[in-house]
Amino acid sequence: MHVALIAHTPDPELVVAAAARLSTAPVSALELKEKMGHEQALRLLTHLIASGHLSPFEHVSFTFAIDGISRAASHQLVRHRLASYTQQSQRYVALKTLDYVTPDSIASRSELEAKYREMVDACHALYRQMLEADIPAEDARYILPNAAQTRLVMTMNARELMHAASLRLCLRAQWEIVHLFENLKIEVSLVAPFIAAQLKPKCFHMGYCDERECCGLMPTLADSTNSPQAGSAKSLKEKTESAS
Ligand SMILES: Cc1cc2nc3c(=O)[nH]c(=O)nc-3n(C[C@H](O)[C@H](O)[C@H](O)COP(=O)(O)OP(=O)(O)OC[C@H]3O[C@@H](n4cnc5c(N)ncnc54)[C@H](O)[C@@H]3O)c2cc1C
Repeated sequence: MHVALIAHTPDPELVVAAAARLSTAPVSALELKEKMGHEQALRLLTHLIASGHLSPFEHVSFTFAIDGISRAASHQLVRHRLASYTQQSQRYVALKTLDYVTPDSIASRSELEAKYREMVDACHALYRQMLEADIPAEDARYILPNAAQTRLVMTMNARELMHAASLRLCLRAQWEIVHLFENLKIEVSLVAPFIAAQLKPKCFHMGYCDERECCGLMPTLADSTNSPQAGSAKSLKEKTESAS
C-alpha cells in the first residue's frame, strides 16, 4: 500500500488552539492565531485532550491519497462516516491487469498461496473474457475478489481521525487496516506531530481494554479484581460512565 498526505489545513495545530482559545477570549481567532506561540498552543491542545473537549479538532482536516489497499480494507475504511471519500470506480475503469493483496497468513503457506493466486488469476481471466464479449465493466466486476487493490482519496477531520484510529489501531482490528492507519499516522506526524501522537488505540485513551478478547496490552475490567492496576482501570471506567 502507499499512503500520501496530499493536502491539509495550514498550521493545523495552531488553528485548533486558536479555535479553542476563542471560546474564552474577547478577540478574533485570527489575532489569537497570529499571536499564539508554539508552547502555548501545545499546552492548550494537551488540555483539550485531557478534558475531552474535542470539537476544536474538527476545524482541521487531512486529505490522503491511498493506493493499493484491498477492497476488503476499503470497505472497512468507508464505514467511518464523518469523512469524504472518492474511490476509483470498477464501473468505469476496466482492469487490464489485476493488482491484488495477499495476506501474510496465505503467502506463508506455499500450497495455499499457489491455489489463491490460481483462483485470483482465473477470476481475472473470466473478467477479461467478459469484457471482450462486451459485458459492461460494471457487470464483469462482480467476479473480482475482495483481494483486488483499489485507490481512494480520503479527507477526514482531526477529531474523526483520532476516533477512527482509536478503533483501527486496536490489535483487534484487521492487520491491513491497522497498517493503513499506521501509515496515516506517519503522514500526519510530518505536519501535526501533536495530533499524530493522539492517533492511538482506544485503550491508550481509556487506560483499560473493553474488548472481549484482550491483547494484554492494557488491563481488562473482567479480570481486574486481583490487580491494583486493573482496579484503577475499573474505577476509571466507573468515573467515566457516571460522568457521561
Ligand atoms: C475491530 C472491529 C470489528 C468490526 N466488526 C464489524 C462487523 O463484524 N460488522 C460490522 O457491520 N461492522 C464492524 N465493524 C465496524 C463498526 O461497527 C463501525 O461501523 C466502524 O468502526 C465505524 O465506527 P463508528 O461507528 O464509531 O462510526 P464513525 O462513522 O467513525 O462515526 C464517528 C462517531 O460519530 C457518531 N455517529 C456517526 N454516525 C452516527 C449516526 N448515524 N448516529 C449517531 N451517531 C453517529 C458516533 O458517535 C460514532 O462513533 C468493526 C469495527 C472494528 C474496529
